[in-house]
Amino acid sequence: MIPVFTPHSLSDLWAALAQAPGAMVYAGGTDLLVKRRAGLLAPPALIHLERIDELRGVEERGEWLRLGAACTHTELLAEALVQTQVPVLVAALRVLGSPLVRNMGTLGGNLCTASPAGDTLPPLYALNAEVELLTPAESHRMPLRQFITGPGQTALPPGAILGSVWVPKPSGWTVQHFEKVGLRNALACSVVSLAALLQVNGSGVTERAALAWGSVGPTVMVCPEAERCLIGRHLSLPLLREAAAKAQQAVSPIVDGRADAEYRRTVAGNLLLRLSELV
Ligand SMILES: Cc1cc2nc3c(=O)[nH]c(=O)nc-3n(C[C@H](O)[C@H](O)[C@H](O)COP(=O)(O)OP(=O)(O)OC[C@H]3O[C@@H](n4cnc5c(N)ncnc54)[C@H](O)[C@@H]3O)c2cc1C
Repeated sequence: MIPVFTPHSLSDLWAALAQAPGAMVYAGGTDLLVKRRAGLLAPPALIHLERIDELRGVEERGEWLRLGAACTHTELLAEALVQTQVPVLVAALRVLGSPLVRNMGTLGGNLCTASPAGDTLPPLYALNAEVELLTPAESHRMPLRQFITGPGQTALPPGAILGSVWVPKPSGWTVQHFEKVGLRNALACSVVSLAALLQVNGSGVTERAALAWGSVGPTVMVCPEAERCLIGRHLSLPLLREAAAKAQQAVSPIVDGRADAEYRRTVAGNLLLRLSELV
């Protein structure tokens, strides 16, 4: 048995980390405890973040929404602010794992796992979210796009934790869309996913676009060429086919047991075509 600490505040957390150097933090444990059981990790001690109030809750702060890193996916789904402001994130949370995984797993855990298939990542990339990192000495914000540095890798410094996720309050988006293609409907990691935000004016012309794909590269992929292709033009199926071709050139899918690269490239483009049905 290794020691497990359950701090009730950030100051208790820093004390626990000082007492147990090399300890790993966890929230829901749906990634970390699974890896530990499989023998992939052997931390000398564990620190559970679940009881720390400072890491929980959803609130509006000026032009931003602050989402506590230790909020579970189920808690976020139940939040009126999340439902009304960021339906693109809600759509991703709804298809993340099973009800049990959503009850245990947290937003912070999903981001710190930094899987290219992590479902909350594409919406938060498209929304230009920031993460707030905490140490005993300071808090520091950085764009999520810089925080995730590779598959399973983040810019989290040793001894720091992810405290919260800051989302600019979306304004003007007429479409917030997330779609995930998996090998089955439930409990499947994405083979390809797409988060898309569009601002389309009354004449059907796209004024702004933000697109982010999951599972088609070492991290979430964005494609500014595809976004630029849509802007200032009438949103139509032929235009989306043009943008899809640019996205298919830009992505660099991996091959794993779930799908080959060519299939992922094709689906990455095809997911864009769906946007024609939504405007
Ligand atoms: C059966 C099953 C199905 C799944 N399906 C999906 C799916 O469809 N889509 C998907 O995206 N994921 C899926 N997952 C993966 C997992 O459930 C999610 O990534 C979940 O959000 C992880 O959150 P957690 O709180 O359980 O993370 P934990 O396991 O607690 O932690 C994961 C990692 O993050 C670190 N960490 C956690 N919180 C913090 C913090 N605040 N600060 C610093 N580091 C932190 C931990 O040290 C660890 O390295 C699935 C997992 C299982 C077991």
